[in-house]
Amino acid sequence: VSLVVDRIGLLVTNDPTIGDGPLGVRRDAAVVIDGEHVVEIADAGTIAADERIDADGRCVIPGFVDSHTHLVFAGDRGDEFAARMAGAPYAAGGIRTTVDATRAASDDELIDLASMRRREAARAGITALEIKSGYGLTAHDEARCLRIGRWFTNDTTFLGAHVVPPEFDGRADDYVTHLRDVMLPAAAPHARWVDAFCERGAFDADQCRAVIRAGQALGLGGRLHANQLGHGPGVALAVELGCASADHCTYLDDDDIAALAGSDTVATFLPATDFSTRQPYPDARRVIDAGASVAIATNCNPGSSYTTSMSLCIALAVRDLRMTPDEALLATTSGGARALRRTDVGHLGVGARADLVVLDAPSYTHLVYRPGVPLVAMTLVGGLALA
Ligand SMILES: [Zn+2]
Repeated sequence: VSLVVDRIGLLVTNDPTIGDGPLGVRRDAAVVIDGEHVVEIADAGTIAADERIDADGRCVIPGFVDSHTHLVFAGDRGDEFAARMAGAPYAAGGIRTTVDATRAASDDELIDLASMRRREAARAGITALEIKSGYGLTAHDEARCLRIGRWFTNDTTFLGAHVVPPEFDGRADDYVTHLRDVMLPAAAPHARWVDAFCERGAFDADQCRAVIRAGQALGLGGRLHANQLGHGPGVALAVELGCASADHCTYLDDDDIAALAGSDTVATFLPATDFSTRQPYPDARRVIDAGASVAIATNCNPGSSYTTSMSLCIALAVRDLRMTPDEALLATTSGGARALRRTDVGHLGVGARADLVVLDAPSYTHLVYRPGVPLVAMTLVGGLALA
């Protein structure tokens, strides 16, 4: 075997067949890796390998799976954020500021900016992630942003239905037709997923349904931005269309929760967004207690959540969404994987990708207990140390 991460004080595998509870916890353990994959979970100090990483009694968790990001963009909206903190409301229209800057940026600039953010995410323990387009909003610029996203992940998402671009002002239906007939065919070869922003000020349920169905007809999986800024039809639509995930879920009524619980659609919470837009937090407790699958993602984007800190998201999920530390850790690892319909990441069972994080802490509970402290000591992606 090529590598052993040894002397792990507390190992979270997310595999109940390997250890205790839903987190599959083992004490005094070692993760045995060959190439890019986990080949064994062993007792500490029992395995010889070409290379050895000494965890020195610290906690090791599966790498975070960030199922919702918008990493490919140019420009800065710090002033808009400051104005919002001073009392201005968040509105979907701010996206156009980023569209202008992204269209004006060269491929090299966009690649450099996304690379910088991807490295930052790796330092935060994110080992797999999804990346959306949605700041190009022309066939050329959407395909360009997705091609750049593919440098970093196969989980790229066409989000042409992010906001109506200025060229189609007041003509949302015409834009949806153009998106379906011209943009989607150009974008689909570079994407695995199709997404739409179902919200007042963005796209209504019929428009979103047309976009997601057209993407599904080309082989893309569906996902939806739903119920972020108020109650609405987004969550019900995501379930109706068999989407892998309904993202945000900040405003849910009883029917939404029942629909999620009776479906394979993951409710993905983005608590750093509610934090950065000074919105109420979703009632995750009711969603979990109803039996729905949940995930937590960063939604890293320049307007409503410019963070790659999954630790912050976990701290908010526990403090303000009333999740337990165990639930929050599961939601950021195996939950994220489920929201991307992946089984190779989000756990450390035999055969999983060797994506893991060594924490500078004896337990993952410290991610909540020590808010704001950078506790990621090392990130391994496919068996390679990144930070
Ligand atoms: Zn988003």
